[in-house]
Amino acid sequence: MPDLFRHPPCGGKTPWAFATRWTPEQVRGDDDVYGVRENEGRLAPLTSNIYPPLRRGDGGAVRPYLMPMASPEIDALTQALARLPGLGPRSARRAVLHLLKKREAAMAPLLRALEAVNERLATCTTCGNVDTSDPCAICADPRRDARMLCVVEEVADLWALDRTRLFPGRFHVLGGRLAALEGIRPEDLTIDQLVGRIERGGIDEVVLAMNATLEGQTTAHYIAERIERFPVRVTQLAHGLPVGGELDYLDEGTLAQALRARRPVA
Ligand code: ZN
Repeated sequence: MPDLFRHPPCGGKTPWAFATRWTPEQVRGDDDVYGVRENEGRLAPLTSNIYPPLRRGDGGAVRPYLMPMASPEIDALTQALARLPGLGPRSARRAVLHLLKKREAAMAPLLRALEAVNERLATCTTCGNVDTSDPCAICADPRRDARMLCVVEEVADLWALDRTRLFPGRFHVLGGRLAALEGIRPEDLTIDQLVGRIERGGIDEVVLAMNATLEGQTTAHYIAERIERFPVRVTQLAHGLPVGGELDYLDEGTLAQALRARRPVA
């Protein structure tokens, strides 16, 4: 795309203005203005979190300016927050403003919580969960059914399944999935540790809760083969209709899985 201007190397994450000349919004540092371009004799604000491509010829030459918006400390805080998943520059600025306004009610508790977690952060050597203790709260909980083990790809999957409060057993985090193209092999995951846990006994059922992706299912098949010599029931999550899903909007793969996994009406 030689005729397109690309956004600066920051990837649109820093509050730079990208403009031919200043506008009142830019001088004030208003939220929505990440860049402007001269277009048909007027300045049009670009209200996206990323810089949309600017076409050469739309409004003549476009030169980047570095626009300071706050003190370096506040700017650093905004940029650190903007790098968090799910937050962009705009949300980060709103969060920072909220913290500054509610220093006692919001900033102090957040600071204490961050410090506490940072000091005690640990990866569970049994299951791979991230917690503030090792073994983690799930592995240490005597009310959990030690005979059931649910295998997941990532810690986020463990947390998602645990939020349902429907799985009474314990977990095992693989730390990813097999991906030959990316060079991720069985020894890069915690599959040996999983086999070791099953080998030690006391487990009746292993639930393979991999993602419904090609790589996730390849990983599930690989693990099923590795543990078929043990006297455990190996199950996997059902694939099919999402809750609230309408048939007309589903892809054929999902519908085919739902048909295959049909069951008698209870
Ligand atoms: Zn654990």
